[in-house]
Amino acid sequence: MREYFKTQPDEHGNFGQYGGSFLPPAIQAEMEKITDAYYSISKSHEFISELRSIRKHFQGRPTPVYFARRLSDEYGGRIYLKREDLNHTGAHKLNHCMGEALLAKYLGKKKLIAETGAGQHGVALATAAAYFGLECEIHMGEVDIQKEHPNVVRMEILGAKVVPVSRGLKTLKEAVDSAFEAYMVDPLSSIYCIGSVVGPHPFPMMVREFQRVVGIEAKEQFFEMTGEQPDNVVACVGGGSNAMGIFSAYIEDEDVQLYGVEPMGRGIKTGENAATITYGKPGMIHGFKCLLLQDDKGEPSPVYSIASGLDYPGVGPEHSMLHDIKRVHYTSVTDDEAVDSFYELSKKEGIIPALESAHAVAYACKLARENPRQSILVNLSGRGDKDIDFIYDKYGAR
Ligand SMILES: *Cc1c(COP(=O)(O)O)cnc(C)c1O
Repeated sequence: MREYFKTQPDEHGNFGQYGGSFLPPAIQAEMEKITDAYYSISKSHEFISELRSIRKHFQGRPTPVYFARRLSDEYGGRIYLKREDLNHTGAHKLNHCMGEALLAKYLGKKKLIAETGAGQHGVALATAAAYFGLECEIHMGEVDIQKEHPNVVRMEILGAKVVPVSRGLKTLKEAVDSAFEAYMVDPLSSIYCIGSVVGPHPFPMMVREFQRVVGIEAKEQFFEMTGEQPDNVVACVGGGSNAMGIFSAYIEDEDVQLYGVEPMGRGIKTGENAATITYGKPGMIHGFKCLLLQDDKGEPSPVYSIASGLDYPGVGPEHSMLHDIKRVHYTSVTDDEAVDSFYELSKKEGIIPALESAHAVAYACKLARENPRQSILVNLSGRGDKDIDFIYDKYGAR
């Protein structure tokens, strides 16, 4: 694992057999321009100091690491939370959106284009666009627009244009297709901002680099609090950006066990889940290779999770590789287990987590019970305000 970041990905964006970039030639040329610009701009003093200042003064970083005493008392072990729910806009996504938008500014772009599922990436990107005075166009399936009304309103108030997508299942995958087409019409003055460590090179690498701040802070904070490294680090995996953010700080320290938690949805038997690494096979989606939930023809399967931010049939190419080389353990948690943890963290610690993050908390509690002498650092990727209406309608206050 030495020199990990110098060798992963390789110069073509491959993480082992995964990753790469499989695009029509015109767009490929644009991607290469973005890659070159990223390599030079991201190392400039000006870019680095501007991003640092944004993180401190606008985003409110560093976010704290918090020892969850009552949760630890309940399960044994020592459970710590990296509080990305306290990052501006309430999740880790703003970390890469501010980086992508800053890069867009340096490239002289006028418009940010993206898709959104639950609306979390859309809100974070609309926030970044407002900060930099850029236009913003967010493509969103009509089904999701119905379901996630508060986030649609947030994006519009922030000045973004929300484009409804009415084809196919009218959800995330169609929104990606639609956003990509819009980008192809005008690749010179716009930039496509991907919402996780997925998509064609350079996005999986770039988004990881922008998320590394989470791990860098957490490692220092955890050491300051305890005088040691955590035994275990746990994060939920949708596309995999919050997980790469925290894992990256420990990936070269092989004594630290890393756990990626996938959504098992309604359970193995129902087939209604989005446990991509657990059940997927190598395949291709949206211009890159990864482990993929797919049908006999290699078409992405429909997927489901109670946490909208986790239901993508693909996963980051880096996670696909980390699974194959067994550096990260991938495991899963059902909807019901995540909902239990949602309430438990709220009532025991006074923190309402995002349903996505509740998957990581649920697994951390299991791990704590099995390993009462060990410490566990959980990436609490976001806050649950977006989920409270849905949860309350379905389960009440409990
Ligand atoms: C979007 C989202 C996720 C899933 O995305 P990753 O790229 O896997 O991190 C997880 N947690 C929250 C709060 C989200 O908004």
